[in-house]
Amino acid sequence: MEAHVLILGGTGDARLLAARLAGQGGWRITLSLAGRTRAPLPQAGELRVGGFGGAEGLADFLRAAKVDLLVDATHPFAARISANARHAAAMAGVPLRALQRPPWRRAPGDRWIEVPDIAGAIGALDGAARRVFLAIGRQEVAAFRARPQHRYLVRSVEPVGPEGILPDAVYILDKGPFEAAAEEALLRAHGIELIVAKNSGGTATEAKILAARALGLPVVMIGRPPPSGAASFESLTAILQSLAHWRAERGE
Ligand code: NAP
Repeated sequence: MEAHVLILGGTGDARLLAARLAGQGGWRITLSLAGRTRAPLPQAGELRVGGFGGAEGLADFLRAAKVDLLVDATHPFAARISANARHAAAMAGVPLRALQRPPWRRAPGDRWIEVPDIAGAIGALDGAARRVFLAIGRQEVAAFRARPQHRYLVRSVEPVGPEGILPDAVYILDKGPFEAAAEEALLRAHGIELIVAKNSGGTATEAKILAARALGLPVVMIGRPPPSGAASFESLTAILQSLAHWRAERGE
């Protein structure tokens, strides 16, 4: 019998998980995206796009679509959907697993200024004008209007909206995975003196951290929001084992 898994995605890990489960067979796979990217990459399974309407909406979806298992493979900074997943799974009586890659760890030579959130990053940018690489996605760029003295390089997958227009900024559109040598070249070309990054973890966007290390640049590193409390796995291998165990327990 097929088991219906709903994967909350928006990350490369979610796509990889869907592909691996499709390869195993025996799964009906639905992958859900928030709809932030206009042209999502192809992926295995059925795709659905857009919010559910909060935890209750997600719980309704779980029941209506007869979902057997929910996997939260969203971005570590997407805290609202993760909290909704936790509540919805409890409401609908559907088991929940989370795939959460480990954060990057500070290494010798790193000049990290660790802050808990975007407000902390704004606080850390007090002081003299510098050339700042904002590598935090597009959604929170507007907050940096509070620090207009800097010259910014802003990189995002989708264009920053009018609310994110900073007085002195260059905007580039690009999507990982990135290479450390190319990141070093980018930082040099724009004379970057400081990087602002979210501690996303994973390899796709780590190159800027490696480049900062190589060039001795400081990084304002924004820490993750607290985890949702779902049973969490740090690797694809670990979550696949857990799903296999879950199927075995069901006698499949
Ligand atoms: P969020 O704040 O956790 O979610 C906001 C709402 O979007 C949710 O309440 C939900 O709407 C909807 N949603 C989110 N993920 C969904 C999914 N997989 N399927 C269906 N609906 C979904 O997440 P976010 O707005 O996407 O992002 C928040 C933060 O995470 C930002 O800081 C962003 O930069 C970061 N992020 C980064 C990446 C990346 O770099 N690849 C990707 C995603 C997010 P309903 O309540 O209506 O269900």
